[in-house]
Amino acid sequence: MYISEEELLSHIAAKPFKLVSEAADEMGVEAYVIGGYVRDIFLNRPSKDIDIVAVGSGIELAKHVAEKLGKRAYLSVFKNFGTAQVKCGDLELEFVGARRESYSHDSRKPVVEDGTLEDDQNRRDFTINALALCLNKDRYGELVDPFGGLEDMEELTIRTPLDPDITFSDDPLRMMRAVRFASQLGFFIDPDTFEAIIRNRQRIEIISRERIADELNKIVLSPKPSVGFELLDKCGLLSYIFPELCALKGVETKEGIGHKDNFAHTLMVLDRLSRTSDNLWLRWSALLHDIGKPATKRFDPRLGWTFHNHNFIGEKMIPTIFRKMKLPMNEKMKYVQKMVNLHMRPIALSDDEVTDSAIRRLLFEAGDDIDDLMKLCEADITSKNPEKVRRFLSNFQIVRSKLAEIEEKDRVRNFQPPITGEEIMETFGLPPSRPVGVLKEAIKNAILDGVIPNEREAAYQFMLERAEKMKLKKV
Ligand code: ATP
Ligand code: MG
Repeated sequence: MYISEEELLSHIAAKPFKLVSEAADEMGVEAYVIGGYVRDIFLNRPSKDIDIVAVGSGIELAKHVAEKLGKRAYLSVFKNFGTAQVKCGDLELEFVGARRESYSHDSRKPVVEDGTLEDDQNRRDFTINALALCLNKDRYGELVDPFGGLEDMEELTIRTPLDPDITFSDDPLRMMRAVRFASQLGFFIDPDTFEAIIRNRQRIEIISRERIADELNKIVLSPKPSVGFELLDKCGLLSYIFPELCALKGVETKEGIGHKDNFAHTLMVLDRLSRTSDNLWLRWSALLHDIGKPATKRFDPRLGWTFHNHNFIGEKMIPTIFRKMKLPMNEKMKYVQKMVNLHMRPIALSDDEVTDSAIRRLLFEAGDDIDDLMKLCEADITSKNPEKVRRFLSNFQIVRSKLAEIEEKDRVRNFQPPITGEEIMETFGLPPSRPVGVLKEAIKNAILDGVIPNEREAAYQFMLERAEKMKLKKV
């Protein structure tokens, strides 16, 4: 992980770093850039949040730096935490005093005391996150790496600086972070560190669901999310934080017939989708697309294994899962529900016999999310039989062009019925009642089935004819 001194210095060349340097020297304190920002220099990743440790008061140093920056800077002080933030342009500097932490068993809130740089590095989670770069003038750019973080970076290793059992027991969120970094950076968790995660896995229960969700989202967004989920499974964390996903594991055989392992399949779909989309919620949809399978699994001697309505049951499970995991209960969740519900529809359409009406209905139900749905469905084709895959993919092209053709012709993607409920009530002098709904639904179906074009005049005529059959009179 060699980078030249010149390059290293270029990452701390911006004006605010120089001002921290001056301010620290004037105050007679040591100051270091530490943690993620230093790690990311060596990994050649962009990073915005810059953590600065002062051996002394972080808040005082921040104040002094803000004075030097003058009007360009915004200072916020968090007295209770002993931290301060200085924002300047697109840089964000977080200041804290070097500290020593000691933990009690039942909380991840440590007792904090002032400490040395070494104390501060000891409390960091991984060797690669404990690197510090000195900012004082006579040691500007000197790297302080007491645990061999650079070497671990070269070997792509995640390792705790101290005894991993203590590191993880003190703050069990670090177990999630280990897995997240492995997935995000393509690193490997050192075997001793990994075994300590296995031993401490149950302590994840003291961590808030919000923080677990943050880490899970980062795993979902990583280049190959299966890496993270497989690690979570192997170390046993998954059954605590996401039992529904664990339930997809395994293959059952009856009368010599097995079904596929839906856990392995789900991860493959998620990886395949991740190659074409960075959309967090579409990735969650991939992760959850078969979540209803365990609950719907049946063995039928004639048909073999079936998972009838698993898409529908999956859709219904999602609010419970989102609520428990503290994921957003808003339109993001609704989107995931819709994707899970519809995930088999495009593939069902890829028969040669596909009718315009089926295409129109799919467009109507998926609306603007139709392209995402097609991506998900394409990622869902994981058959090992290359001939089958080829056939599916080419049928998919047909579905795509039919979708485009029908959309062009009928504009049903964001379909609004050309006749409203109010208009129906006015035309026939009806109060809000069942016949109004029946008529409205009949008009919608007639358009989606291609009985009439998606136009007002045709819809109006259709409504009159249908109303007559229902013995409704125009007023
Ligand atoms: P990212 O910003 O990508 O989430 P990061 O490593 O920068 O990754 P932050 O949460 O920004 O993570 O934390 C900054 C630094 O603080 C880390 O690099 C690490 O040194 C330290 N740190 C953060 N969380 C913990 C923790 N739970 N235990 C120990 N040290 C931690
Ligand atoms: Mg960070």
